[in-house]
Amino acid sequence: MNLALPKRFPRPPAALAMALAIPRRRLHLAPPFLLDDGYMPRYQQLSSVDAAKKRSLAYAHLRNCNLCPRQCGVNRYEKTGMCLIGHNVKVSVIAPHFGEEPCIQGHHGSGSVFMSGCNLRCTFCQNHDISHQRNGMDLTPEELGQWYLKLQDVGHVHNINIVTPEHVVPQVALSILHAKELGLRVPVVYNTSSFDSMDSLRLMDGLVDIYLADFKVWETASSKRLLKADDYAATARESIKAMHEQVGDLCFTGDGIAKKGLLVRHLVMPGKESEGAQIMRFLAQDVSADCFVHIMEQYHPDAHVGKQNTRGKSKDVASSSTIRYADINRAVTHEEVSTVRQAAIDAGLWRFNDPPRHGGFAM
Ligand code: SF4
Repeated sequence: MNLALPKRFPRPPAALAMALAIPRRRLHLAPPFLLDDGYMPRYQQLSSVDAAKKRSLAYAHLRNCNLCPRQCGVNRYEKTGMCLIGHNVKVSVIAPHFGEEPCIQGHHGSGSVFMSGCNLRCTFCQNHDISHQRNGMDLTPEELGQWYLKLQDVGHVHNINIVTPEHVVPQVALSILHAKELGLRVPVVYNTSSFDSMDSLRLMDGLVDIYLADFKVWETASSKRLLKADDYAATARESIKAMHEQVGDLCFTGDGIAKKGLLVRHLVMPGKESEGAQIMRFLAQDVSADCFVHIMEQYHPDAHVGKQNTRGKSKDVASSSTIRYADINRAVTHEEVSTVRQAAIDAGLWRFNDPPRHGGFAM
């Protein structure tokens, strides 16, 4: 069949164009969550005036750091605060990473930058060697930005995924602005515990495309005992609402890769399924019923959990064992995970990071 167009039709009429169109894969994705293939990262849309304002704000925060809820007020060019990180960043690993959600890692991996140090002190930390032990190499914000370009141009990753950035927000802001000038084009993922301040999130507004946010525990007692933070849940609630206001619900391009929006992770903890259920109700009612949620079941005892208490009987009021944090010294059960999942469904959530039944991506 000759498909050449008659000369009098410089553009094909709609019916003919449809007949000629190459068939596209059906994604079964509701239109509000499907982006145009030409999605441009938010930092690329930032004006030069706004970029300059963010740069000077980042330097000001480094000279008087109250940028996370710890509020140390230190000059990070001279000393360190609770996070133990100064004006440069310490990075543990930079590499394409295939341990993220399918819509984040895609086929080529997520360009992950694992920051050393953390502003929380989770007793069960699943990245203990990185977050608590400050191993890694020191990089200036400019050097960090150059690594983003290597991940993009050599690793062909789908995004730049900054893991545990809460305590290095000014340096991360400067690195993204530098990488923008060098030609970065892929979305930026802010992979956070959600123990962020409003000032941090204001600084990241316009620089981040995807917030990959943990919501760990709900009760103040759990926050104090397990995270060593007085106000984690209150901070996480406000942070996650602010993140959603900036980027909205998680959206994808037609290739199944997430490009913009909020993805909330909850690691189900042994015996804490009722806190998980509270978190699901909060997300549905106060953030969005269309919030994309990953209910994770891979908890394992780590860091301080299960270690022998060298001072004999534990001082931990919630545990009379000589084993530290004995109540969470086990994997989660199927019933605990199901309870959180059912609470999410009952609350109206429906976008989960489930293995897709049609062989594509979870969307
Ligand atoms: S980022 Fe570090 S220095 Fe700044 S307030 Fe938080 S813990 Fe303190």
